[in-house]
Amino acid sequence: MNEKMITKLEILAESAKYDISCSSSGASRGNKDKGIGSAHKSGICHTFTADGRCVSLLKIMLTNYCMFDCAYCINRQSNDIPRAGFTPLELADLTIEFYRRNYIEGLFISSGIVRSPDHTMERMIRVVTILRNEYGFNGYIHMKAIPGASNELINQAGLLVDRMSVNLEIPTEENLKILAPDKDHQSIYQPMRQIHQNMLENIEDRKKFRTAPKFVPAGQSTQVIIGATDESDKQILQLTAKLYKRPSMKRVYYSGFIPVNSYDKRLPVVQDVPRVRENRLYQADWLLRFYDFNVDEIVNDQYPDLDLSVDPKLAWAIRNPQFFPIDVNRDSYQKILRVPGIGVKSAKLIVMARRHRKLTFDALKRIGVVLKRAKFFVVCHEMRKFKLLDSSAEYIRLSLQDPPLLEDKQDNISQQLVMEW
Ligand code: SF4
Repeated sequence: MNEKMITKLEILAESAKYDISCSSSGASRGNKDKGIGSAHKSGICHTFTADGRCVSLLKIMLTNYCMFDCAYCINRQSNDIPRAGFTPLELADLTIEFYRRNYIEGLFISSGIVRSPDHTMERMIRVVTILRNEYGFNGYIHMKAIPGASNELINQAGLLVDRMSVNLEIPTEENLKILAPDKDHQSIYQPMRQIHQNMLENIEDRKKFRTAPKFVPAGQSTQVIIGATDESDKQILQLTAKLYKRPSMKRVYYSGFIPVNSYDKRLPVVQDVPRVRENRLYQADWLLRFYDFNVDEIVNDQYPDLDLSVDPKLAWAIRNPQFFPIDVNRDSYQKILRVPGIGVKSAKLIVMARRHRKLTFDALKRIGVVLKRAKFFVVCHEMRKFKLLDSSAEYIRLSLQDPPLLEDKQDNISQQLVMEW
C-alpha cells in the first residue's frame, strides 16, 4: 500500500470511530459461486478499542468531507481537520486486500455527505457493487444509509448489504434542529420506514421464490447520542420501545456524548463520557427485548431517569416488593425471569429442572443463578415464604449497588433479611 493510501486510511478510519452502530450479529450470508468470505450466523468476531468502540470490521468512511455541520460531529463542515476521500474502487480494493490478509472479516461503511445525500449514497453503493459483483465478496457488509437518500437507492443498497443503519443521533426533533440544523427526523425516519417495508416485502417474495435475493438479511440498527441534549431516559427508552415495534429494527445503540467540539456553545460541558448511563440504557434495552418488560415499568413519570447505582432490573424489583417472593418451584417462567440474578438461560433451566425434582438453593446455584442477587427475591424448597419489607429493600439496594456500599456487612444484612422473612 502506498503512502497516500495509508494517509487516507488513517484519516478515514479515525473519522469513523465515533459511530458505534456496527454490530454484525445475525447475518447468515454463506459463501457462493467460489467467491470470497462468508458471514456466519454467529457473527463476525468483535474487538473493541480501549475506549470501548467496536473495530471488528474495517470500519471506515468513504470520505470525511461533509456539507453538513452537525454540532456533535468531528467531521462537521466547519471543523479544520485533515480531510480525505477514497474512490469506490480504492475502498473496494482495500477491503479485499485486508480480507485476504485476514485483518478483517467484513466492512462497515459510512460517509460524510458530499454534494447531496443521493450522490453520496450512489458512491457507497458503487463500493459494495464492486465488492459483491466484481470481486465476489460474500463477507459481512454494514452500510450507513444517508438521511434524505431516495427510496430507489435504499432499495438498491439493501439488496447488496447485510445490515443498514440510519442514525437518529438526537432523540427529539426539537433538539436535533438545534444541533443539526441540516437534518430533520423526517429525513431519518423515511429511509428507516423504507428499509422496514422492503424487508417485509422481501419476506413475502422469498416465500414465493426461494432464490429471490435477500434484502438486508441482518435488519437495521440505529444510534442515539446520550447526554448531548437534555432528554430523559424515559424519552429515550420510549423512543427505543417504539422503534423495536418494527421487527426490522435489531439494535438501538446508545453512544455516550464525546465532547469533540467543546468550543460549540450549543453543547453541554462534560468532563467524562457518560459511560454508566450508557450501560444502564443497554441493560434497560435488554429488559425490553428479552425480559418482556414494558417501558413504563422501567421509566415513568415518577422515575424518569434510570437509577445509576443499580441495574434497571434490580431497581424495578426494589420498587415492586409486592411482586416477590417468587417461588421457583411453582411460579411461571415470565415471573421467574423478573428475578434479579436470573437470566433467560437460567430461567429456562429452572422450568425444565423443576419437572424432575424440587429445586433448592444449591440446585439454583448449579443452574447458574447469581444467588448474591436472587436470594433476596426467591423462595424455594428449603425456605419458607417471606415478605420483602421497605426497610430491607433499601438494604438490598445498598448492598447490591455498584460499587457495593455495604460489602463488608453483607453477611449481616442477609442474616437480618432471612430473619425478617
Ligand atoms: S452529516 Fe454525518 S458526517 Fe456530516 S456532520 Fe452530520 S453527523 Fe457528521
